[in-house]
Amino acid sequence: MKALVLEEYNTLVYRDVPAPEIADHEVLVKVMACGICGSDVHGLDGSTGRRIPPLIMGHEASGTIAEIGGKVSGWTKGDRVTFDSTVYPLDDWFTRRGLYNLSDNREVIGVSPGNYRRHGAFAEFVAVPGHILYGIPDNVSFEQAAMVEAAAVALHAINISGTLDGEVCLVTGAGTIGLFIIKLLGISGASYVAAADLDEKSLDMALKAGARLACRPGDSRLEEGLCSRTGGRGADVSFEAVGLTETVDLAIRLARKGGKVVLVGNRSPKIDFPLQTVVTRELKVLGSCAIRGEYDRILDLLASGKLTVDDQVAAVAPLKEGAEWFRRLYNKQAPPGKVILIP
Ligand SMILES: [Zn+2]
Repeated sequence: MKALVLEEYNTLVYRDVPAPEIADHEVLVKVMACGICGSDVHGLDGSTGRRIPPLIMGHEASGTIAEIGGKVSGWTKGDRVTFDSTVYPLDDWFTRRGLYNLSDNREVIGVSPGNYRRHGAFAEFVAVPGHILYGIPDNVSFEQAAMVEAAAVALHAINISGTLDGEVCLVTGAGTIGLFIIKLLGISGASYVAAADLDEKSLDMALKAGARLACRPGDSRLEEGLCSRTGGRGADVSFEAVGLTETVDLAIRLARKGGKVVLVGNRSPKIDFPLQTVVTRELKVLGSCAIRGEYDRILDLLASGKLTVDDQVAAVAPLKEGAEWFRRLYNKQAPPGKVILIP
């Protein structure tokens, strides 16, 4: 089969590789669409340590079932599916408690951090366990289904934050995850969402996604907007979708006393942390990792038209042009939004 292979850091090659063989508990998915994640782009140069070559990346995918392992039931060849980006063991302490995203020995599709290598979906075929599959509703396209993973990550962050009825929220970072958080906050009952980003086009997209205010991090209107709705207190909940010292600092600084800060972005493994602010303002700082069962809800929202994704797709391109799109994304020359590759 053809695949886009990260042969060494910064070198992606579109070439023939053997198709994956499936184990008894796996299915072979013929990939119809796979989105390029920011973590794939950042993994390209080795800086994150999570894409050690050789590797086929890609974990935001959809396709049809081409082959079914002997121990997999409930699926038929040709079924349209998407799948969780986390491959988790079923016999795990965390999984049994419903916390499969935290399970020991979990693996992420299209990732190789050193202790495992699991090839992903920038290829004609990918092997995945049957228990991480989700059927795609008829009226949802493969390209739309390739956006479900990112939307589910955003919904997990919202679920982690607890009730949002009438609350005032800040979202730092209006990339794919940030935009989905903004949209899903609207659906979840937040009364007001402000967004911060450095990029003008992203700020525009944040407004279209439902943010009432979108400006650059240093803009005083951000604090004014949040405070004018809260009697000067600040955001009830901040969602941080970047993961740098400056953005975490902003998310914490604009949260009200006793409020919550949900950390989703983790571009930088370590940051300067405003400890005194968090302690003296009694903030609840919550980490949000991947997805924990949010797929069904996102697929429902897509099927019903309550959640839109097409406006977040920057380009749909053939997989053989993948290396060029990665280069553009890496050099920040691509339009904002998701690039989806089609094998
Ligand atoms: Zn991702």
